[in-house]
Amino acid sequence: MTDISAESRGGGRNPVAPGAGRTVASAVPQSLVSRLARGVTASGPQGPAATVQTTAPLTGALLATLPQSTTADVEAAFATARRAQKAWAALPPRRRAAVLLRFHDLLLKRQDEVLDLIQAETGKSRLHAFDEILAVAMAARYYGRTAPAHLRDRRRAGALPLLTHTVEARRPKGVIGQISPWNYPLELSVGDALPAFAAGNAVVNKPDTQTALSALWARELLIEAGLPADLWQIVVGDGPVIGPAVVERADYVAFTGSTRTGREVARQAAGRLIGASLELGGKNAMLVLADADLDRAAEGAVRACFSSAGQLCVSVERLFVHRSVADRFLEKFAERTRSMRLGGGLAYGADMGSLASERQLEVVTRHVEEAVKAGATVLAGGQARPELGPLFFEPTILDGVTPEMTVCAEETFGPVVSVYRFDAEDEAVGQANSTPYGLNSSVWTKDARRGRAVAARLRTGTVNVNEGYAAAYGSVASPMGGMGDSGLGRRHGSDGILRYTEAQTIATQRLMPIGPAFGLDDQRFATLFTKGLRAMKALGFK
Ligand code: NAD
Repeated sequence: MTDISAESRGGGRNPVAPGAGRTVASAVPQSLVSRLARGVTASGPQGPAATVQTTAPLTGALLATLPQSTTADVEAAFATARRAQKAWAALPPRRRAAVLLRFHDLLLKRQDEVLDLIQAETGKSRLHAFDEILAVAMAARYYGRTAPAHLRDRRRAGALPLLTHTVEARRPKGVIGQISPWNYPLELSVGDALPAFAAGNAVVNKPDTQTALSALWARELLIEAGLPADLWQIVVGDGPVIGPAVVERADYVAFTGSTRTGREVARQAAGRLIGASLELGGKNAMLVLADADLDRAAEGAVRACFSSAGQLCVSVERLFVHRSVADRFLEKFAERTRSMRLGGGLAYGADMGSLASERQLEVVTRHVEEAVKAGATVLAGGQARPELGPLFFEPTILDGVTPEMTVCAEETFGPVVSVYRFDAEDEAVGQANSTPYGLNSSVWTKDARRGRAVAARLRTGTVNVNEGYAAAYGSVASPMGGMGDSGLGRRHGSDGILRYTEAQTIATQRLMPIGPAFGLDDQRFATLFTKGLRAMKALGFK
């Protein structure tokens, strides 16, 4: 490993947060793991095909032994879900939505249980785990309150005024196949499943094996809130085997993960002519304009770049700063970054936790080392911190990154941000947009109107003005998702629930047919309707 000297790191190592006293082993006892594991659909006639083990990123110790589902189990999961879905879809939307509101309250009350699980499975700090409680509670409240309105029948203008009575209805898709990654295990399992349930669907979820416990815990809680147990099936297994088995049987796919896997899922869904929403990767940009409040921007950059140790799809990895304020901004940002407390305690107090897997540590280390070797400067961080745990890596700021370095364009998905200076706004917008991704971006300025004008020029599904990601992500009434290689479709808002439905138009014709009748020959019919069309336009009909 390249040794990055303290001097080239800008001096100083990140301090260590005080420990919490509780260990992963005591917070997540094997009795809890065994109970949760019973929620996996993996019990064919011969029992589970095999078991799979996960380890806790904070310590490297064994965390859970989980049964693995076979493709026969996936088949059984869909059959059970399909049976349960019929009765669930027949309930009035208000009754279904009430389950979400009860879940909201239970989640807030029992949050500590799942915060322990999330930390144990991902290694993130408790504050970053709490982001998931926030996101899921907001989605539960929003869809709990609004699902009936999103789903109600809507009168539409008929083909012929007064004579055609037309209603647009929403029908559930049926059984949703949901495939989720490891980085936000609560939010990206139950958070995305809530609107599917509210819309009258069942869900077969394949979480990442590493973080299945968080999803299994959420399933138990949702059942306690009133969800019929069969409606949410969780299967566990190898992604390239069990993932396609889920897509093969689903009526619609909600996938969150990498762009590479997303393309495979899209291909398979296209072959079956089913819809899919794809929430994929990003290389998100933050723009600090010349008039930004530099203290707020520096503080915001810390959250935007290092939440969940950068293993956050909407996390900022490219930072564009106006040259006139770059030195002052970077001093503040680097100082705050260097003083972030690292730690793996199961309590609040650490500013950043560990990475989630060896693969993540390998990618982060490789991107940083390669950049440094090719001439980049480390303004903060730059080193692994094995004395804190096997997968800790310091929050890292790189300067002098050039296009041939991998870190410049590829998603690192870690606590690493590269800094670039710009002179003109056009240049910054052009550079921010010069990526095939288009997930999230962030603009900092004291002039909010100007911020929104710049935002409109950025090609990303969400843009935050004077915040990194949470303002847009937390605005759950408004859609969230990616343009370009960052995905298809949206979660949140009406898009987030209507994607789980089929539109059905029911039009009832009264009194006269739409065709020659009452002795009209074809010519007269055409003449009459031509006049009718002209009149409808003149009268302002839509
Ligand atoms: P990944 O694509 O490797 O895995 C995601 C899920 O897909 C896992 O459950 C995996 O087991 C499964 N899978 C693997 N191969 C499959 C296949 N052939 N068919 C079907 N499913 C398969 O992604 P990851 O590394 O777990 O997650 C990190 C990525 O997810 C990053 O790129 C990140 O940006 C992205 N992400 C995006 C969002 C978003 O909302 N846009 C949110 C979180 C993460």
